Amino acid sequence: MMGIVSKILGLVFAASGFVLLWWGMGVTGSFSLVWSFIGMFVMAMGFALLTSGRQQKEAKPPPPTVTEIRCNSCDFKEIRDFQKGDYVLKAVEATCPKCQSAMTIEGVYIVREEPEDKDRI
Ligand SMILES: [Zn+2]
Repeated sequence: MMGIVSKILGLVFAASGFVLLWWGMGVTGSFSLVWSFIGMFVMAMGFALLTSGRQQKEAKPPPPTVTEIRCNSCDFKEIRDFQKGDYVLKAVEATCPKCQSAMTIEGVYIVREEPEDKDRI
């Protein structure tokens, strides 16, 4: 909805800026240059609105989710990408690479978009 509004506003700004620029060029006297500049400015604003509306339309990918798996016997801990069907305390099929014991999902986290945050968990 906002994208459509900014697109219409952008078109209105661009069109009125063009008219102002055109009109400013026809005006004789010292204000001619001022009107032309205002026209260019309004036009630029209109085009900026048009492009910003286009950017808003791009779908944001869902935040990455990770699953924390912990070994039942030792202190081994692994964080991998969330897979469909993962839930806390679910027993995973994979076994611990250190002691071959069964492992359990200890947590499911949503990682913030900054990639460096992934390392902090
Ligand atoms: Zn283990």
